[in-house]
Amino acid sequence: MNKNENTKTGVTMEKIVSLAKRRGFIFPSSEIYGGFGAIYDYGPYGVELENAIKAAWWKTMVQKRPDIIGLDSSIFMHPKIWQASGHTTGFADPLAECKKCNARVRIDHLLEDIDVFADEKMSEEEINELFNQHKTKIKCPQCGKSDFSDAKKFNLLVKANLGNFNDDWSKEPTYLRGETCQGIYVNYKNVRDTARVKIPFGIAQIGKAFRNEIAGRQYVFRTREFEQMEMQYFTHPDEEMKEYEKLREARWAYYKELGIKGENLRWSKHKNLVFYAKEAYDIEYNYPFGFKELEGVHARSDYDLSQHMKFSGADLTYTDPHTNEKYTPHIIESSVGVGRTVFAVMCDAYTEEEIDDGDSRVVMKFNKKLAPIKVAVFPLLKNKPELVKKAREIFGALSEQLMCEFDDNGNIGKRYRRQDEIGTPYCVTVDFDTLENSTVTVRDRDTMKQERVAVSELVGYLGT
Ligand code: ATP
Repeated sequence: MNKNENTKTGVTMEKIVSLAKRRGFIFPSSEIYGGFGAIYDYGPYGVELENAIKAAWWKTMVQKRPDIIGLDSSIFMHPKIWQASGHTTGFADPLAECKKCNARVRIDHLLEDIDVFADEKMSEEEINELFNQHKTKIKCPQCGKSDFSDAKKFNLLVKANLGNFNDDWSKEPTYLRGETCQGIYVNYKNVRDTARVKIPFGIAQIGKAFRNEIAGRQYVFRTREFEQMEMQYFTHPDEEMKEYEKLREARWAYYKELGIKGENLRWSKHKNLVFYAKEAYDIEYNYPFGFKELEGVHARSDYDLSQHMKFSGADLTYTDPHTNEKYTPHIIESSVGVGRTVFAVMCDAYTEEEIDDGDSRVVMKFNKKLAPIKVAVFPLLKNKPELVKKAREIFGALSEQLMCEFDDNGNIGKRYRRQDEIGTPYCVTVDFDTLENSTVTVRDRDTMKQERVAVSELVGYLGT
């Protein structure tokens, strides 16, 4: 498959990147300075889409779950946390360089593409040995040649000098967090003791994470700054796998509820488990470059709390209030990136349609819950103050409840096309009849049908 064109879905990287830029969803960071590697900014519609995704996640994971509570821990934490978690030593990707075009490549990913799986624990020597066995079958994704340097393991943690005023601060660095869940583990006891929760219970949080990713030209799929939505669920050791199955079901149901097409999602079981994991599956989405990890759902045993007990000296064991049994809770987790979800939702919504007279349109068929703008309000004519006034009044009333947009630019047909491209489910047009009988035209994004609706019934009609 062409790396950037998905022949099954018809969605190409170019189409998504271009629409996202043109319509104000996603911009390359620092563009006027020539961009900044693997960092992106979310524009006016991108931020609305992100907010809607985060709200849907929070509703499913926290609001509707009596057994899960929220947290917002800091980006900076005690540097020892990253030793306990294994990140300062083990959080490293094997990097090689193409000798022909100097592209930097991830050896583990290139091996995966030919169904050879490297273990995260492998030393540089071991990974090079595996790489050498298969080298001739591996081609550089940039130039197609097969001539690579040896692999070097490169640590992904981003270092900082927070609170360290010495010139040689890099010897004792602090770190921008590489994942949000460590903030959950180290607050586990605080939350447990204050939120009156009993095991099993979960802690959820949404926040930024940072990784010195080896640039992969994968758009917002792999960035150096990104946002994670993570939920860590604390269980009795004997209940871990039962709860894990329940979590897998819940996460699959969540994507179905978001309206992601079933054929574009699949489970993928980890072939090489890290030594402490009981089981690990990813939910993969069919991106323009094929099926890749959207979310990880993992059973992590008691590894995380045991490590933090060892490194901090704190007692993180749990004593069951009924049986008095004392144990270290086991953890199952769900972890997904906001950017990867935005990208999946955009690919899934992207539709090109033939309409009347050989004309065509691009329409983003977002689930109505996720659409950045829920309704657009137009005065039929820009130069008729009475229509503009009425349309502004309606905008004022609707925007109390919904994210709306007011648009009086160009003809109505052009305004519809623009709203189609940003995925607005409804357009409301105020015309001269509105002034007479208080009704408006409501146009449906998907069917393109128009209906006359009383202004007093609009909110109900639009489905709030
Ligand atoms: P990959 O194998 O693709 O590098 P990972 O297994 O390292 O991902 P995790 O550490 O399990 O990823 O992170 C959990 C989730 O965070 C991922 O499923 C993904 O949605 C998101 N994520 C991880 N790294 C990035 C990144 N660099 N950019 C955007 N999202 C990311």
